[in-house]
Order: sequence, then structure tokens, then C-alpha cells
Amino acid sequence: MPAFQTSPGTRDILPPESGQFRRLVDVFATLAERAGFGLIIPPMFEDLGVFQRIGEATDIVSKEMYDFVDKGGRHIALRPEQTAGVVRAFVQHRPVLPWKTWYAGPNFRYESAQKGRYRQFDQVGVEALGVDDPYLDVEVITLAWRFFEALGLRQVTLLLNSLGEPDDRARYREALRVYFEGRAGELTEDGRLTLGRNPLRLLDSKREQDLLVVAGAPQLGAFRSQASTDHFATVQAGLRALGVPFVLAPNLVRGLDYYRRTTFELVADALDAAQNAVGGGGRYDGLAEDLGGPSTPGVGFALGVDRTLLACESEGVFAAPASVLDVFVVDTTGGASALTVAERLRTAGIRTDRAFENRSMKSQMRAADRSGAAVAVIIGTNELAAGQLTVRPLRHTGEDALQRTVADHELVDEVRALLSTSYEPLPARQHHS
Ligand code: ATP
Ligand code: MG
Repeated sequence: MPAFQTSPGTRDILPPESGQFRRLVDVFATLAERAGFGLIIPPMFEDLGVFQRIGEATDIVSKEMYDFVDKGGRHIALRPEQTAGVVRAFVQHRPVLPWKTWYAGPNFRYESAQKGRYRQFDQVGVEALGVDDPYLDVEVITLAWRFFEALGLRQVTLLLNSLGEPDDRARYREALRVYFEGRAGELTEDGRLTLGRNPLRLLDSKREQDLLVVAGAPQLGAFRSQASTDHFATVQAGLRALGVPFVLAPNLVRGLDYYRRTTFELVADALDAAQNAVGGGGRYDGLAEDLGGPSTPGVGFALGVDRTLLACESEGVFAAPASVLDVFVVDTTGGASALTVAERLRTAGIRTDRAFENRSMKSQMRAADRSGAAVAVIIGTNELAAGQLTVRPLRHTGEDALQRTVADHELVDEVRALLSTSYEPLPARQHHS
């Protein structure tokens, strides 16, 4: 046992899994930028107050925050999510509206660690500020949906709800409080605590006993204003027009206090129920104002990268790239030739690695095989003397599998030609602890 290991709830993401992680972020970036979102990179820690605006009654703020006083006496928190930081950035820089941003990066929550629930986890997401139009909600939700589609996930469900305007929600909340207080004796102890903090949160309780009481609770629909009802109808019509399937979920309230109108969640059916949410979002109101800015509408979502990769694994889609290398350079003449040859290939855009320490031909060829490269470029004393190189396909079959010797200036073209012909990709190597 080494003296140091990853701390609970954190993990190392090693190749080849890390390749899958990176590609997933690339897919998201491509889709987000195609829809007019620009990358924002906010800091990973902020004044604690920024996150307290999410809602002091939420689990995220009341139980899960990594906060500390720094050496300058500032009360700091590692970000538990990114919306608050993005809105803080909006208030600070006041960019032209509408302001559409996307982000990717780690968040920190002190949770009890288990598969799919970590203390450091990654999210990708978007925030769009300054537009009240329900078609923006449609665009944002569709982006999340297309992302899971692009990964090849088939078992994802989009749950949709509208919380109404803050006034609607306040009246509904009061009606819920009265209802649940009348039946408080039937709730679990945790349920009663939730009731004291925020009766809305009882609706998405995961405890059977509480859910029996929830089943008879007043429904939000009756409290929605005409404007919210219309907004919600347009969101649904827009999603239908784009062929994005959704399920109405009247009890979906989500964890954060700042939501109004549209809320949604994406659930991966291939994951364990306790950790099956792969993302969620909605409209928020009051957050910019709470952070000292003008009242500004916003809509966004965050998707959990770690859980999404778990879902991909369960569904057997979006595998890690089979190989990270095209060429492996073998040089038994001392290694100086490999130095320049590898550099030339890399400059030409060919993924290249090489052997070091001037090992034997046998040992270097073994390393070439293990590397997953499709082609070995071999430099021995004969080649060096003749100004030539031997190019050996490692995983081709039939005619293509024959090695040939080429002049120095032919190397890049020869390798490119070989890489463009079909070969059998190696299965990804797994790392076991
Ligand atoms: P949960 O109900 O599972 O705790 P949440 O409502 O707290 O999720 P959000 O704050 O909405 O989660 O974050 C959006 C997404 O980020 C989640 O749907 C999930 O995929 C991911 N996520 C949240 N917390 C964690 C965590 N501790 N570990 C891994 N992923 C997480
Ligand atoms: Mg949570």
C-alpha cells in the first residue's frame, strides 16, 4: 500500500478512459459552439457569499460546501456548481445581452462517496442570460438532448416541468406547507426536516414513506399564472417541433432555489436510481439581482460528465479511442535519428512515440507492439548508412502487412498512405489497480 492514495470521493482518470473523457467534452464544445455559446472559464473558488445565493436551505450550500478561511482572512468556497460563478461574472463584466456561454470543469461537494457520486466531479453546461423567450428554453434543452444522442446513449429520459413565476411558486409552496403540516406525523424524520426548510423539496424526496404523503399533495398546475402556462406550452410545442421527446414531471423541483418556470432533468435509465441524474437545469430569476446586478432572466443546465461516462459504459456506447498512437519509432543506432524522425512525423500531424535508452531491436519492437501504434518506423545501422527507413505495418493484414524500405524524404507520405488503409484497431488497454 503506498503511503498516499486519492482522498475519498476523488479519483484519477487514466488513459485510455481519460481519452473518452476528453472526447466527451470535445463533443459538447462542438455542439455548444455550433449553437452560438462561447467558452467561459470562471475560477474554481469564489467568495462563499456567491454560492450562498444559490439558496442557504439547499443541501449543496448547507451540507456539501468545501469552504475555508484563506490566509488573507477571506471566506472562500470551492465551487459546488458553476451557474452562480457565471452569473457573478455577468454582473461583474456586464457583457452585451443576450450572453450565451458554455463551460466545462470540476466542482466540489462534500458528499458520501459512491459510484457516480464523487466529491470532485466534472460538469459541462451552458448558461444563457438576458432572454425571456421560451424558444431559448427549447434551444437549451435540445442542446442537452442532442449531446446525449451524439454520444450514442439511447436510454436517457428528459423530464420536464414548469415551476411557474416566483409568485405562483410562493403560493404553491404555502399550499404545500399547509398540506404537509397536516400530515407531518406520516412523514419520516428527514421529511419533516425538509418540510421545515423547503416544502417544495419534499416533492422529489426519494423516501418511500414520504412519497405516500406526496401522492396526495396539491398539484402545481393549478397555481401557475396564465403567462407561465403559455410559456410552458410554447416550450413543449418547440420540443415537439424538433422531435425531442420529453415526459412531464409535475413533481420535479430540482435542488436550487433560484429556478422559475422551466425546469428539467435528464435521467439515464442504465444507472442505479440513486445516481441516475445525468444532468439538469432550468430558468432562473433573481440570481443576477441577488449578486448585485440588474434583474436578468437566465436559462441553463449542467450535465455530469462522470455519470454520463458511466451511462456510456453501461450502454456499451462511446468507447475510448482504440489507440492514441499512429507510429512508433524504433532506432537501434543510438536514438538520435529517432529524435528527428519523431519530430518530423509529429510536425506532419502524425501521432508518434518512440523507444528510449537504446534497447535491443527485440525489446523496442515489443514496445512498438504494446504501444497500439499502427506502424513502426525502424532505423537500424543499414538504414542509417543508406539514408533510408523501414516502415512496418503492425496491425495490417494481407498485402498491406508487408514492410518496405523508403528514402528519407518519402517517409511522411508512405506513413500517411499506410494510415489511410484499413487496419484492425487494438482493443483499448485497461488499467487495473
Ligand atoms: P443528485 O440529485 O444526484 O445529488 P443534483 O441535483 O445534486 O444531483 P445538480 O446540482 O443538478 O445535481 O448537478 C447536475 C449534474 O451534475 C447531476 O445531474 C449529476 O449528473 C452531476 N452531479 C451532481 N453531483 C454530483 C456528484 N457528487 N458526483 C458526480 N456527479 C454529480
Ligand atoms: Mg446532489
